[in-house]
Amino acid sequence: MASRQDNNIHSDWYKAVRDYTVRLAKVRSVSPGDGENRVAHEVLNLLCEGGLDTIYTTYGLDPLAEDPYKRHNAYGFLRGSSPATLILLGHIDTVDTKDYGSLELLALDPEQLTTQQHLLWRQGTESGNGDDWLFGRGVADMKSGVAINIALLRRLAQRAQVEQLPLSILLLATPDEENESAGVLQAVHFLQRLQAQYQLDYLGVINTDYSTELYPGDPHHALDASRMSARRLTGLMPTCSQQNSFAT
Ligand SMILES: [Zn+2]
Repeated sequence: MASRQDNNIHSDWYKAVRDYTVRLAKVRSVSPGDGENRVAHEVLNLLCEGGLDTIYTTYGLDPLAEDPYKRHNAYGFLRGSSPATLILLGHIDTVDTKDYGSLELLALDPEQLTTQQHLLWRQGTESGNGDDWLFGRGVADMKSGVAINIALLRRLAQRAQVEQLPLSILLLATPDEENESAGVLQAVHFLQRLQAQYQLDYLGVINTDYSTELYPGDPHHALDASRMSARRLTGLMPTCSQQNSFAT
């Protein structure tokens, strides 16, 4: 049976991930476009709020070389006692919002849009049932996944204030996944520089992008390892059940 403390941690965790998801979703970041830079800044804002900026070993924006939109990868890094490094990967761009039709003006406002879910289902833009869904462009693919990574790095940064982490952790948030994956391709160079600077040994990547059941009734919620970003970087594929509370 879960203790009251366990329940509080779960409740705080869920609220944080939900709040970060809504904040990221409100930043229009259709790829390719300037909005991808604005959402990269919002990732850093979320990572650093509450004074955590002084805890990270390093954080910032790494520019994409020769990018016509001057976009950046956002990152935050905590160096632990070991060079062994786990990468939390996510993309911050989305596809367009036109398919929301008459509700397009609400496509980036998950809380308002969710009150209109009966209309979304009628026009076929979304599917789902029950009252525990959060709708909006990019909510599932994959700003909720980035929100999970942010909440996790923030939690680890708080822990790093009182004890050295046993592992090193890097959060990477990339643009252009829905277009040509320019962000994750640039990230390979960034990873090489970071590795040399901090003598890191990369264990692998957790990509928290949207996934769904592999077969009817699949209870495991395994992450999809077939995406280009995952193919190029992935070494680890743990499960993640949190995302299935959200919808695209
Ligand atoms: Zn995605």
